[in-house]
Amino acid sequence: MMEGDFRQHSMDEIRSRLNQCGLKATPQRMRVYAAMCRLGHASADAVYLHLGSDKGTMSLATVYNVLESMTEAGLLVRRPSFSSKMFFDVDTSEHGHLYRSDTQELVDISDESLLPAVEARVRECMPEDLVLDRVEIQVICHAGRPADWK
Ligand SMILES: [Zn+2]
Repeated sequence: MMEGDFRQHSMDEIRSRLNQCGLKATPQRMRVYAAMCRLGHASADAVYLHLGSDKGTMSLATVYNVLESMTEAGLLVRRPSFSSKMFFDVDTSEHGHLYRSDTQELVDISDESLLPAVEARVRECMPEDLVLDRVEIQVICHAGRPADWK
């Protein structure tokens, strides 16, 4: 459900994405955003670990601040998870997620009709004095044996 495959983006494309959102393409931002493009969804800890020696002198707090500034600029979106860990998502469009409790990963649900369908059903039963802001869907799951295994 990603608009174009961010994982394939070159450094020039990453630079122009930062610039489009009004952010200077500093080496720290370039590294953090490139890591986010590779990971898709990640917590600050996961980005920090993923960067390895590439993080240079960046502390975990710096990585977190860089992710927050990108979120404020509209380049990333926050996805709170059931693990209470805050994830960041490179796909800023509205879409549902699977939360894997066994691997602590967020995975996109690639059904574009799911959110509109749930929103329509909820609108039918919502009290009239409430206004629907948006629908967030996060389904908790873990790996298991397929149902047809004996
Ligand atoms: Zn997502």
